[in-house]
Amino acid sequence: MTDSMLITCPHCHRKNRLPVERLSANPQCGACKQSLFNGKPLALTSAQFAKHSSADLPLVIDFWASWCGPCQQFAPVFEQAASRAEPRARLIKIDTEAAPDLAARFAIRSIPTLLILHHGKEIARLNGAMPAQEFERWLLTNLPAL
Ligand SMILES: [Zn+2]
Repeated sequence: MTDSMLITCPHCHRKNRLPVERLSANPQCGACKQSLFNGKPLALTSAQFAKHSSADLPLVIDFWASWCGPCQQFAPVFEQAASRAEPRARLIKIDTEAAPDLAARFAIRSIPTLLILHHGKEIARLNGAMPAQEFERWLLTNLPAL
């Protein structure tokens, strides 16, 4: 069993190996010295996404687009959930217009679509926006234990 995890830095996208017990002690990136967790969703390009999806932290991904009304409504719910989900998971925003390759890879047919990814495997998926309480219940139910 592993008692350390690879965490990708949200700033410089380098991987850091951390003992699991240090996750909640506001760890910093060994390369750029910034916080590995900042309580906010992280917008990623396809290239950056690859560096995060190949690490150990579960990712909660919001596939969205700027023209999508329900996506705009859901954005604050997703943002709020980030600080509570960390350091158990990182919340990621993927603009489906900017990253059509990722939208195709995950077969995104409607937006917003919420997806939990762990070690490259999809472990849960939700279509459509929902109220904060419902979203957080879904997160708690589906996020893998540390
Ligand atoms: Zn860094």
